[in-house]
Order: sequence, then structure tokens, then C-alpha cells
Amino acid sequence: MNSSQLTIWPLSLAMFCSSPVLSHAEVDKVEQIAPDVYFHEGDLKGHGHCNNGWIIFEDYVLVVDANFPSGAQEIIPKIKAITDKPIRFAFDTHHHGDHAYGNQVWVENGAVPVAHTGVIDEMKKYETGYYGGKPGRWEDTAKSRSDVAATKLKPPTLLYNKDMIFDDGKHRVELLHFGVAHTHGDGFAWLPKEKILFTGDACVNGPYNYMGDGDSEQWIKTLAAAKKLGAETICPGHGPIGTAQVLEEQQSFFVELRKEVEKYASKKPEEVKVAVGDIKAALLKQPAIARYVGDSFTAQVEKVYVEMGGKPFQPQSAAVEERKQHAHEHGRELVRAAKERE
Ligand SMILES: [Zn+2]
Repeated sequence: MNSSQLTIWPLSLAMFCSSPVLSHAEVDKVEQIAPDVYFHEGDLKGHGHCNNGWIIFEDYVLVVDANFPSGAQEIIPKIKAITDKPIRFAFDTHHHGDHAYGNQVWVENGAVPVAHTGVIDEMKKYETGYYGGKPGRWEDTAKSRSDVAATKLKPPTLLYNKDMIFDDGKHRVELLHFGVAHTHGDGFAWLPKEKILFTGDACVNGPYNYMGDGDSEQWIKTLAAAKKLGAETICPGHGPIGTAQVLEEQQSFFVELRKEVEKYASKKPEEVKVAVGDIKAALLKQPAIARYVGDSFTAQVEKVYVEMGGKPFQPQSAAVEERKQHAHEHGRELVRAAKERE
């Protein structure tokens, strides 16, 4: 079946121009964003799923992000409905469960998980159960996710240090790494001909930033390097697809957050904790970045404050304690937060 036979929602530049960062995509719908290039916004609230992309090369399909096992199981039939070419590669943009725990499902479907070497470094740090130590994040996540419990952790086996290039003459995808951001192993998938950039969670579009495994100062620099590519379409790790503006605003959020927290850098933790409301108000006043302020804001302020030399907030509020215990991947944390609001 070729793409013209499918019900898809092509994106035009006109749509981008009229509404650069607002949602014009639908969750769980396949969108063709260029010939042979697809984007799929995952159901984050319901299932903790990340966004996916895929590129149909002459002989195979390259998928961006492995998702959770249930996310992989949802995407695979959607890809197979478009092409009968084999799915050969699944690119983990980083090590988090909602981007990499589906690897085993892709392997069973004939694909090889691919990632930057930093993803393996992170897995060795956090997936201690797999590497022969005490139970790690996978085992913890399996307690609350049956899709994870039903499969097994499969770290990526095809790794790159600097970059990895897929090019069949018609399509070119460059897997890149610009340094620490959301994690220590964030990979980007760059399509230079179409000027499309898949960012993983180095760039999200909405209140989905989980900062626990990254570094906000380096994150800003990494985003600056990614901006130099000159992407026109940004496919974020979570939230709707957008223009280059999304990259800009994700970066501005961290710049402004750091600027505000810096005002309190020499204050005591308890004083900073009290000031979270003021910091939040200052960011909410800025229309371009207000949508990045969400439920994890206190933890984000604390993270930046600690990066600037401060001590963690004490005593920890129940919410922070809960988040620390369970924030092993932000997908689940967000599901929990959404459920608490209901
Ligand atoms: Zn993540």
C-alpha cells in the first residue's frame, strides 16, 4: 500500500506558519510529514508513550524511538500498514523506559536497537539489575507496567560515538549527539534534505521536561548546537510536532529558569522552596515558555539550585519524595500526576 491510499494528515508549511507550536496533530494518529517520513505523537497521558517517527528507505525502515513495549506494539502494525519493507533499525534517542524499553519487541520483529554510546553508559548506571547488581529501574517499572513485566530489557547493540549515517541516495538520516542534555546520551535524528529533526526528550513541546538525569547548563549548550542544523520541523520526544521555534522555546525555558533560580543561589534551601511560587509566576508571565511550566516545577527548581551549589530541599515534601522514588522515567511520573489530578 502506498501512502496516498492511507488516511493521513499531511502538514503544510502554511499550517506551521499560522500556528507554530500549537497542537495540530492528533495523539495516536500517523502523520506523513514528508515523502516516506512519518511522525506519531504517542499517548503520554493514557499509556506513558513517547512520540515516534519512521523513515522508509529503499530497502528498510528506520524507526525513531523504541517506546515502551506497548507503544512498540501499537506502532508496528501502523508501519506495516504503510510499507512491506522490513523494519531494520530502532533508534533509542536515550535510555529512559518510554524510549528504550520496547527494544526487545523491535528485535522480535527483526530490528536492531541503535543508540549513542552514552545510552549504554546510562543503562550501566541505572539498569543495575540487567548488569548483575541490585534491581534497577527496569525491575521497578515492571512492578507497575504489565507490558514491561511481560518482556525484558534489551540494551541497544549497535552504537555510535560521534554520528551514524543512513543514506540510500534518496533519503539521508544522520544520528547525532551534541553533549549532555536530558541525559548523558541524547541522540538526535537529522534529515538534512527535509530539514526535519527528531530530538527525543532533549526537546519536548509542553510541560514534559524531566531534568533528573541531565544538566540544565549543558542542556542549553546542546540545544544551541542542535539549533545550528537549521531544522524547519521539530519532532519532539513528547508533545506536538512544531517548527524551529519549539527548539528555541525549550532552550529559553532553561535559560529563564536558571536566571530566576540564580537570584536565590546563595539562599538557604528552605528559602528557595518558599520562593518556588514566585519563580513559577515569573516564568508563567512569559508567553513563549509558559507551557513548559507543569507539575514537576518544584523538582526542576530544586535541580537547578543543586546544580548551582545548593543543597536539596529538606524536609522533602511527600510529593517530592514520591517523585524521587518513582521518577525513574518521566512517562510514568506524568501518568501518575495526571491520575492524581483526576
Ligand atoms: Zn526521557
